[in-house]
Amino acid sequence: MRRPWYAVGLAALCLAVVAPAQASATSDATPAARPVVDMEATVLAAQIDPRRPDNTLTPGAKSSVLAVEQALQAKNLLDAQWVDGYFGTLTVSAYAAYQRSLGYTGLAANGLPGTTSLTKLGLNRYTVTNTIGPGAKVQRDGFVVNARTQAMLTETQRLLGQTLVLDQGSYNPGGDPTSAGTHDGGGVVDISVTGMTAAKRTAVAKALRQVGFAAWVRDPSQGDWPWHIHAVAINDTDLSTQAQNQVGDYYLGLNGLANHGRDDGPRIPIKTWEQYQREQ
Ligand SMILES: [Zn+2]
Repeated sequence: MRRPWYAVGLAALCLAVVAPAQASATSDATPAARPVVDMEATVLAAQIDPRRPDNTLTPGAKSSVLAVEQALQAKNLLDAQWVDGYFGTLTVSAYAAYQRSLGYTGLAANGLPGTTSLTKLGLNRYTVTNTIGPGAKVQRDGFVVNARTQAMLTETQRLLGQTLVLDQGSYNPGGDPTSAGTHDGGGVVDISVTGMTAAKRTAVAKALRQVGFAAWVRDPSQGDWPWHIHAVAINDTDLSTQAQNQVGDYYLGLNGLANHGRDDGPRIPIKTWEQYQREQ
C-alpha cells in the first residue's frame, strides 16, 4: 500500500524540527543562548556556602553556580545530585579536582575559581563576566602582599587619614603557627595596633571592613598572639582554605576563630572591594 501523503508530510515536518535544533547545539553561532557566569558572585558563594549550617543559597549566585556545576558534572567531577546552585564543600572539592586536571597545584588548586580555570571550564558552555584577580605580588613593610590587597590597604589609609603598618603579610606558609594557615595564601594581613587606643583599633577595623576586608581586632585572650587586627580580603582568589572559611564565617556573623564565636567587630553592610569601588 502506498503511504498516504500526510504521513510523508509528517516525517518531513519532524525532520525539519529536529535538524535545526541539532545544528544549533553544536554550533558556535548561538552565544546569546549561553548562560552567564558572574565570577564575583561565584567566588563569593564558594567562600560562604561551605560554611553555612543550612542549604541557603548565596544571593545572586544561583544561575552562575549552576552553570559551573553543570560543567563540572559534564567532566564527571560532580555527581548530578549536587548540581543545585549551592557551592558547598563537594563543589569546592570538584572544582579543586578540575584545577588539578589543568596541572595546577597549591593555591592554584584551592577550589576557588580563578579567571583562567573558570574560563576554560566554560569553553562552549558559558560566558564569564565580572572577572576578578589578585594581581602581582608586591612588597609592603618588608612583607609580601598582592596588588589587590595593596590597593585595598591604600584606600583604607585614605579613609582613616593615617598610615597602617603590617605585622604579617600574605603568601606566608608556616610563617606564624598561631595563624593556623590563614596567611598561607593571598589577601590576608595582620595590622599593627601599637600605640592605638581601643577606639582607634575599632575605627581601623571598621575602615578595613568598609573597603572589603573581613577584619577583626584580635586580643591576647583569644590566642597566643599580641593585640593586632587580622584582615582577610573578601573574594581574593588566592585565599588559603582557612582564609576562605573566615570570609564565610564573617558573612554568617561569626568571628572566624576555631570557637565559632559571634562577630565582635563593628557591624556594617558587607561589601567586596569591587562592590565598594563601583559605589565610589
Ligand atoms: Zn592574621
